[in-house]
Amino acid sequence: MSRRGFCFGERAMEIDLLTVGEYQTNCYLIYHESIRDAIIIDPGFEGERIISRIKELELVPQIIVITHAHFDHISAIPELSAVYNLPLAIHRDDVSRLADPNQNFSGVSGCFISLKADIELEEGDLVEVPGVSLEVIHTPGHSTGSIILVNHDERLLFSGDTLFYKGYGRVDLPGSSSKQLRESLEKIKQLPDDFKVFPGHGPATTIGGEKNLIDYYL
Ligand SMILES: [Zn+2]
Ligand SMILES: [Zn+2]
Repeated sequence: MSRRGFCFGERAMEIDLLTVGEYQTNCYLIYHESIRDAIIIDPGFEGERIISRIKELELVPQIIVITHAHFDHISAIPELSAVYNLPLAIHRDDVSRLADPNQNFSGVSGCFISLKADIELEEGDLVEVPGVSLEVIHTPGHSTGSIILVNHDERLLFSGDTLFYKGYGRVDLPGSSSKQLRESLEKIKQLPDDFKVFPGHGPATTIGGEKNLIDYYL
């Protein structure tokens, strides 16, 4: 999980987006264009489609990282795990949610997902494959273990269900907190305006584009 000092020139990180399932979850495949080792972010549903895309792009997935343990971000993991032997990384404060179908709401949807984390993330950790490094920032509120993943080189982040295009995460769910979400949005607001935001649902945006909304909420 430490920085490994690869240097592959500039702007070569690729982002492949698959919008999956009835909740239209954004699953991202992240990789360096000339290396193909990939990070899978939030495989919510449609495991077969995600696997087809991985094969089509000739990627070698190395890790699954989850922005938070709600069922719409994790339900394809069993399908992926049947094909690939991948470590599963999530913030330590959502580890129990990942294992509990009542807390991750998969029980309500009738699919009862219970998963064990292999890597318990903390603030400041780096999720890396050769050529790509994502910094973990803990942004509780929507869930206690929600994170965003920031790539400073490319000036972008993956915001899960914490920040959307013209919106922010629900805080009316068991395990959510409006006070924590406010503090997390305050933290996200410190990032530069031009940083691109790739959310867990809906279109991409920028920090600057959402500042008015964040200020309104704060
Ligand atoms: Zn969620
Ligand atoms: Zn979601």
